[in-house]
Amino acid sequence: MKTVYGDILEGGGQILRFTLPIAAITGTPIRIVRIRAKRPNPGLARQHMISVESVARLSSAKLEGLRLGSQELTFIPGSIRGGRYDFDIGTAGSITLVLQALLPVMAFTRDYVEVTITGGTNNPMAPPIDYLERILLPVLRMMGFDPRIELLRRGFYPVGGGIVKASSTSIEGMLKPIRIVEFGYVKRIAGIAYSSRLPSHIVDRMVSTVEKLLSRRGYDIVLEKEILQPPNPRCAASPGCGVLLYAELSSGARIASDSLGVRGKPAEKVAEEAVKDLESQIEVAYPVDRHLADQLIIWMALAGGESSIATTELTLHTVTCIELAKRLLDVEFEVDGGEGKPSRITCRGIGLKAEKSPP
Ligand code: ATP
Repeated sequence: MKTVYGDILEGGGQILRFTLPIAAITGTPIRIVRIRAKRPNPGLARQHMISVESVARLSSAKLEGLRLGSQELTFIPGSIRGGRYDFDIGTAGSITLVLQALLPVMAFTRDYVEVTITGGTNNPMAPPIDYLERILLPVLRMMGFDPRIELLRRGFYPVGGGIVKASSTSIEGMLKPIRIVEFGYVKRIAGIAYSSRLPSHIVDRMVSTVEKLLSRRGYDIVLEKEILQPPNPRCAASPGCGVLLYAELSSGARIASDSLGVRGKPAEKVAEEAVKDLESQIEVAYPVDRHLADQLIIWMALAGGESSIATTELTLHTVTCIELAKRLLDVEFEVDGGEGKPSRITCRGIGLKAEKSPP
């Protein structure tokens, strides 16, 4: 049994969400200790518990240590099975972070799998559901994995109650490697400004601020507006708003930035934060944003052949994922750059094969 130390490098929840799917799809028993030891509230929170439980259910794993606050977990995977599953985080904990752990397992699940998760869809310090749909999924499609993600209802802190349905069938053979290193030029800026249970001027003000700030640079801007009120079934149970922006590059890549509304923060400020972050990343002229980089490491490590990405900033999250991929999968990485700097990351993936469906 391999032991993973949850306090290496970044020392947070991503260590779990990286380790467990790898354990599940490679059939490796794992013990994780010192879980989230570097956090002020160490151990498993609800989002992490559901991440663990959902990966365990799909892979028929035997689990020890699954309780709130637990800092130690033993995970012995069995066979991976499709089917329909329902998971309720029970708080506004992030649905997309649960999917971060589940999607690699789904990619290697031979039969149809459909997972419905209840929780938060737009959280601080996590990918908004809109980011998953518009930024991560297009890259996974290029790699040969094409899950369907449906946002059934938004969910914001503190009530949560958002619902997302994810379904897929297994990849064919291996994941294809990716090469996202060319920036080219910005073709246009796209995105979405959304709100639930708030007056419509909030979204309007976010959109006009983005347009005002970015059109000065001569960009074409196409922003969707989503203004939800009850009884629309997609409307969140508690008020919330935010914006996701992305630069569509001539190379085909997308760099994104997002910002979430908080009570007392003017809509203009929310928009301004997203614009500033996007502008500073565009200035670097590398085609993979800092969040996408850490989210792609697991996929690059599993793909067959050499993958290469150039990211606007190498974060400690990304460094942590690289370290875990080396330890768990014996994958070599080459990093040209350094933490906190624009960097190019290359790796030769293990080429894990999905089991073939019976004829
Ligand atoms: P902990 O509380 O232990 O830090 P956690 O489980 O809440 O952990 P992290 O380990 O910090 O989460 O991982 C956060 C994940 O969310 C990373 O993959 C990161 O790239 C992604 N992420 C954070 N903020 C954004 C954002 N604004 N847009 C897109 N992705 C984001």
